[in-house]
Amino acid sequence: MHRLLERQLKRVLGLDAGQWPRLADKLRDWADQVADEDAELARGLFGLPQLLERVSESYAQQDRDLTLVRRSLELSSTELSTANERLRQEAKAMSQALATLQWTFDALRQDAEGEGEARSDDLVTMAGQIVTLTREQERIREALVKSEERFELAMRGANDGLWDYDLTSGKVYYSPRWKDMIGHAPDDIGDSLDEWASRVHPEDKAGALAAVQAHLQGETPHMEATFRFRHRDGHYLWILSRGLAVRDAAGQALRMVGTHTDISQRMELEHYLSQFKRALDEHAIVSITDVRGNITYANQRFCDISGYTREELLGQNHRLLKSGMHDAAMYEDLWSTISQGRTWVGELCNRAKDGQHYWVLATISPVLGNDGLPEQYIAIRADISRIKDAEKALLKAKEAAENANRAKSEFLANMSHEIRTPMNGVLGMLSLALDTHLTPEQREYLGLARTSADSLLHVINDILDFSKIEAGRMDIHEEPVRLRELVDELARLNGPRCREKGLEFSAEVDPELPEWLMLDPVRVRQVLVNLLGNAVKFTTTGEIRLTVRRLGFGMRFAVRDTGIGIPREKQAHVFESFTQADGSITRRFGGTGLGLSISNQLVRLMGGIMGVESEPGQGSEFHFLLPICEPKPAAKPEGAGAIVVTPERRRLHILLAEDNPINQKLAVSLLSREGHQVDVVGDGEAALAATDAGRYDLVLMDMQMPVLDGVAATRAIRAREPAGVHLPIVALTANAYEDDRDACLDAGMDGFISKPFKRAELMAAIDHALGQAATAHPAGPGGSATT
Ligand code: ADP
Repeated sequence: MHRLLERQLKRVLGLDAGQWPRLADKLRDWADQVADEDAELARGLFGLPQLLERVSESYAQQDRDLTLVRRSLELSSTELSTANERLRQEAKAMSQALATLQWTFDALRQDAEGEGEARSDDLVTMAGQIVTLTREQERIREALVKSEERFELAMRGANDGLWDYDLTSGKVYYSPRWKDMIGHAPDDIGDSLDEWASRVHPEDKAGALAAVQAHLQGETPHMEATFRFRHRDGHYLWILSRGLAVRDAAGQALRMVGTHTDISQRMELEHYLSQFKRALDEHAIVSITDVRGNITYANQRFCDISGYTREELLGQNHRLLKSGMHDAAMYEDLWSTISQGRTWVGELCNRAKDGQHYWVLATISPVLGNDGLPEQYIAIRADISRIKDAEKALLKAKEAAENANRAKSEFLANMSHEIRTPMNGVLGMLSLALDTHLTPEQREYLGLARTSADSLLHVINDILDFSKIEAGRMDIHEEPVRLRELVDELARLNGPRCREKGLEFSAEVDPELPEWLMLDPVRVRQVLVNLLGNAVKFTTTGEIRLTVRRLGFGMRFAVRDTGIGIPREKQAHVFESFTQADGSITRRFGGTGLGLSISNQLVRLMGGIMGVESEPGQGSEFHFLLPICEPKPAAKPEGAGAIVVTPERRRLHILLAEDNPINQKLAVSLLSREGHQVDVVGDGEAALAATDAGRYDLVLMDMQMPVLDGVAATRAIRAREPAGVHLPIVALTANAYEDDRDACLDAGMDGFISKPFKRAELMAAIDHALGQAATAHPAGPGGSATT
């Protein structure tokens, strides 16, 4: 039951709420009891409890309604205050927005028109203007985006990265290419300046920042800095950064926009180039000129060597260095070479500032332009002054050496004369003595003396030949020779010697070989005599064979023996000077060790080669190959060949011009035995007088004589001779040089014989000279012979 009803029941009826149910039951009972009596009363009694319940319910409903009303009232009040607050806030925001709008509008208008217009407070007008301005701004932004896109594209095309530094916000835009350049994806890198600063090489940062600062402060028209910039993988790139500040009307920098160019390759190239340049500059004198020769570059070495400073050289014409040491033709050649686009190389003498001359080896190359014509010339020069000095010194030394060599040759000529003259006497007198009546003992002694003298002569001849070859004074005189006669002569000489030693000897000439050959008979004979001499010397049993065979275009001379042979390891050395296969052999066999060396060199001088094949204990074969050269038909002499042997001789009236009394005696004695009549004079002048006075068939003329020497005397005789008359003159000389022989023949002599000579050689030389003179001068003095 509702509490209000309870209280009212209590107050009105004095009933407690707890008593009510019992009373209600009683009422219902009473109603039942009186139903019949009084129906209305009964209904009243019965309905009263129900009424009270309804009243209680109504009270409860009222309570509920009241709560609801209260609560709704409460709610309305909160909402109201919230709405109030919101409205207040909105009003504030509205007023702020209005202020911002006004500011934006002002700013936009200023941007658009530059000059500020009268401020409009009319919101509608302002809104309209804002719409217009916003559209304009939109259009501008679009244009800017397009332009930036184009710029970015251009940058990408140039492969450059782009950066845009907003100085007011401190933010930096880095383009994708900027990031890609250092190995980053577009989203990798933020927009702070630190992204740049943290990647610059510590050593380069200060320089780069200084460049930025200088430009921001208006000190430079644009910013340019080169620095190392770290790539994502840690290595550094070389970056060239260029930028330009965007300034407001007051000149204050607002932004700075610029590019990053990767110049690592260029820097690497520059590095190499600078290294090359350094290397070149360190070692060479380098200059560059324009096409007129005006100096545009000079390196330090050029300054050092010329004594000029760089400032003094630049702009000057290269002819400043002309020394006057070269003729105009050389400069013409230089200029015509380089102006035609070719490189000129040559030695130049230049003049330094102090007047000193210096030598350079110059390489001057043109640098060609697109049209193929020279634009400038690069000269690279090496200082060769020291080489030139050394060259001069060498030249002097060479002259000194040549003088010394001449002196040596003269000494050899003198020595030859000094030794050969007494040797002539010794050998000649020994032969004369051996032709007289002697006791067997005397004959033996004199025979031994002659053998010794022969060996001595052999040694002297070897040493002289060797010296002549060394001095380059050994000449080869080729003449038509009958090879078979030469070989026969050697056979006649060696056959008896071999037989004496119990050896067999044979000589053979290939019938395929021409009869006449161009050879130096003296030298071929000398080589063969030496080879045959060795063969006989080193062979005790068996045989010695001399053969000449045709081998293609050459002829192969070979001397084969069955002697002791030469060990294989020694064979290559036997042609060296003073070399002998075995020291002990030297003692057993004697010799100077020069024979094969001389032979080998003579063969070479004759255009051939020499070799050896040998088996120790079996024997050796020395051989040499000479080219076959046939004489022209006209060159073949009528006579018998190399040595003219006339079996029957005429008795001649001979003038002997000789100053040495022993040699006079020897010659007179030899010639008298042949039945010739001999007059003797002691010098050239006397010879001249004698030939003037008497008629002689022949003159034997010594070359070295007091008063007038043999050559001068011969010239004088020839000068006085009437036409068609020719007195045969044979030179007697102790000198062993070919040029002596040439001098004799030049002076007009007909023959030449070297001392010491043997009787047969002397007679052969006389016969030869008479033959020559007769062929050349048929109307000669032959008729005066005393038959
Ligand atoms: P030498 O005058 O001393 O003989 P050579 O130059 O003629 O000088 O010879 C040099 C050396 O070569 C000789 O000493 C000898 O040892 C060796 N030789 C030369 N010819 C023969 C040969 N036919 N048989 C063996 N050995 C030889």
